[in-house]
Amino acid sequence: MRVLKISPRGYCYGVVDAIQMAKRVARDPAVPRPIYVLGQIVHNRHAVDGLRDLGIITLDGPDRMVLLDQITIGTVIFTAHGVSPAVKAAARTKGLNCVDATCPDVTRTHDLVLDLVAKGYEIIYVGKRGHPEPEGVIGEAPEHVHLVETLAEVDMLNVETPRLAITTQTTLSQWDTQAIIDRVKLRYPHVQVHNDICHATQERQNAATTQVEEADLVVVVGDERSNNSKRLVHVVREIAGRPAVLVDDVEHLSPELLQGVGTVAVTSGSSTPSEITRAVIQYLEHFEPDPDAE
Ligand code: SF4
Repeated sequence: MRVLKISPRGYCYGVVDAIQMAKRVARDPAVPRPIYVLGQIVHNRHAVDGLRDLGIITLDGPDRMVLLDQITIGTVIFTAHGVSPAVKAAARTKGLNCVDATCPDVTRTHDLVLDLVAKGYEIIYVGKRGHPEPEGVIGEAPEHVHLVETLAEVDMLNVETPRLAITTQTTLSQWDTQAIIDRVKLRYPHVQVHNDICHATQERQNAATTQVEEADLVVVVGDERSNNSKRLVHVVREIAGRPAVLVDDVEHLSPELLQGVGTVAVTSGSSTPSEITRAVIQYLEHFEPDPDAE
């Protein structure tokens, strides 16, 4: 089968740094044990399994503070998605050794929120409810940050103040987010706009929407929990108008899925390990469609 390898794809610098930091910690005998990660280090089960093999315990669940309750001694690693100041403070109060693997791009949004709130601004934050990144950012100033996920939620906003700003989660669809920002600007023309979708996310979305013209199917390799991987599927369908599927790994490919496909394009989320994507590409390159299949 003809395979178009979309580039760039896969691991971003924030994910690479977070995983390397966790590995360094695991290999350092001076670091207090046990070693925990508060949530998945990045949203990919293969990456999480890799850390488990190094003796790192991943605690998973929707609320970082609740996860922290399970830890009494040792080391806690904060993930690339970042955590709220309340979680950091609680971990220090417990006397835990804290390792912060927050991506610098996420930290920039935390700093922006703090700076704007100090100047008296109310902030509209475009993000995904229940995702750890908004949980951490909103935790900087919960009473001044207003989460919106949809255009309908923009219409329901009630933030009448001359000092109003808008910022975003790092891994959203740049097109959907622009539509939300435009709607906010219609309601609040004076709003100060800070679009914080990270460079890595934008690059991968731009590549996935401009390099798939000849593809009968676009395969996005990524975990069901990974927001940036799911956004890639979404933008390929909505912006490039091509069919797209999300597959966790090579085990999730099947002859039925590839029926009638002559050219397939492959990309992967920024939390997907390269070897997982490589295995998918190799499978597809060697795949021979059944000539008798409809
Ligand atoms: Fe950082 Fe962007 Fe990668 Fe998230 S997707 S870890 S914000 S570079």
